[in-house]
Amino acid sequence: MAETLLEAKKLNNFIGGDWVESNDSTEVINPANGETIVQVPLSDGSTVDKAVEVAKKAQKDWAKVPAPQRAEVMLEVGNLMKQRKERLARLLTMENGKVLEEARGEVQEGIDMAFYMAGEGRRLFGHTTPAELPNKFSMSQRCPVGVVGIITPWNFPIAIATWKSFPAIVAGNAVIWKPATETPIMAYELAKIFEDAGLPKGVLNVVYGKGSAVGDAMVHHGDIRVISFTGSDVTGRNIASECGKQLKKVSLEMGGKNAVIVMDDADLDLAAEGIIWSAYGTSGQRCTAASRVIVHEDVKERLEERLLAGIEKLTIGDGLDETNKVGPIINKAGLEKIQKYIQIGKEEGAKLVAGGYVLEDGDFAKGHYFAPTLFTDAKPDMRIAQEEIFGPVLSLIPVKSFEEAIEVNNGVSYGLSSSIFTTDANRVFQAQRDLDTGIVYVNAGTTGAEIHLPFGGTKGTGNGHRDSGVQALDVFTEWKAVYVDYSGKLQRAQIDTE
Ligand code: NAP
Repeated sequence: MAETLLEAKKLNNFIGGDWVESNDSTEVINPANGETIVQVPLSDGSTVDKAVEVAKKAQKDWAKVPAPQRAEVMLEVGNLMKQRKERLARLLTMENGKVLEEARGEVQEGIDMAFYMAGEGRRLFGHTTPAELPNKFSMSQRCPVGVVGIITPWNFPIAIATWKSFPAIVAGNAVIWKPATETPIMAYELAKIFEDAGLPKGVLNVVYGKGSAVGDAMVHHGDIRVISFTGSDVTGRNIASECGKQLKKVSLEMGGKNAVIVMDDADLDLAAEGIIWSAYGTSGQRCTAASRVIVHEDVKERLEERLLAGIEKLTIGDGLDETNKVGPIINKAGLEKIQKYIQIGKEEGAKLVAGGYVLEDGDFAKGHYFAPTLFTDAKPDMRIAQEEIFGPVLSLIPVKSFEEAIEVNNGVSYGLSSSIFTTDANRVFQAQRDLDTGIVYVNAGTTGAEIHLPFGGTKGTGNGHRDSGVQALDVFTEWKAVYVDYSGKLQRAQIDTE
């Protein structure tokens, strides 16, 4: 299957518009069946140096292209992605494992982002503002930063890259992109799309390789002025401290411990449907996946019954088979981490009522599959209710009141996404005010972000920046204040104003 979709047996780095071979490489494995899809380069810091050199040159010219013309390339990228959507989605399912319906959704997110950023080329708004002195004009404008570095994870191999690279490119920067070694195919496909769309050589460069080699070299490179990173908490914190030493701008999007609150007046059928989708979609490997349900004790049993019935209906297997609703876990290490937390949950005294085991029979043995899992009677301070598991594991935490529900939701170190199911309009507004997360859903699960809104979280989820939305431009631009004095004489601000 891979061969019919992919022309190459081995991917190459994309540097200065050339497809550059690398000596060292490793296999990309389909997590659904253990088959090798392609070889991916394992580059090192010297490749990053070469990419930065060409990017620096290309960026100087690119920044001078009027932004509406830069945006036309993005429009073409969106059109090509639309034409190639099915191919991209199938390859995405093969490298990442998510079921085809979700893969199509992820590609669509990239298409949406392309069209959105194409429009942004005619905005990129700054401000004009009155000057404090006569015959003087003042304004602020967004300027590109220069060469920017983008480091992306395996769980959204194309959407996250588009949230970062599209605003960076429209804003006039050149990009060095290091995709996750686990899922490099989307980077190859997107680079080809940019090439076909006519992006000048060197504006987008893809360097494959391990985070500890290529990622680390990017973080330490003096001419990469911004690092935009999405990934795990540990890696993000290390990157932030290294960037801090260099006064390098860094944008971090990291983990989550997202909760759905279900109040006693909620539509329980709707809530159960939303929870099943948020908790077990992508096998729980979304940063916004629901891993806690904070349920009012009066409806706990009725909700639990509905969740168990929903879990029963989930079909698990290779995502290319469209009858399956839940795909595999990315790799063995991911599977082992989930198993570890099942053990922790049992030892902590949570009640395991569904799943809790690796699926190993028949075809499951070829891949990495975990049964959708439900713990009930969890306590807010248990590790399974505090730490990111990144798998199909959900914990039900009973509470007595709305106030307690908000407190439990906020009582974790992360702040990415939260949700509340209620039919009380007052509670809706109180909740959206009091939930300490970057994203809040009402009467929907914890997933489903749209690209024209800011994406990111509070507290340990990040460092205050946002991906996607117009806010993403803040990461990839510097503000410049410009004063034009047309009085023909020296006018001193703050002094000649009286
Ligand atoms: P990860 O291990 O931190 O890897 C993320 C990226 O960083 C990969 O490309 C990785 O490269 C690279 N990397 C690793 N070590 C590095 C280093 N020392 N210097 C520079 N780069 C380095 O995270 P992951 O396991 O792929 O992703 C899952 C995590 O991402 C979860 O915690 C999830 O919550 C989070 N996530 C957050 C969001 C959000 O927007 N908040 C969205 C999606 C995912 P290699 O893997 O190739 O070595």
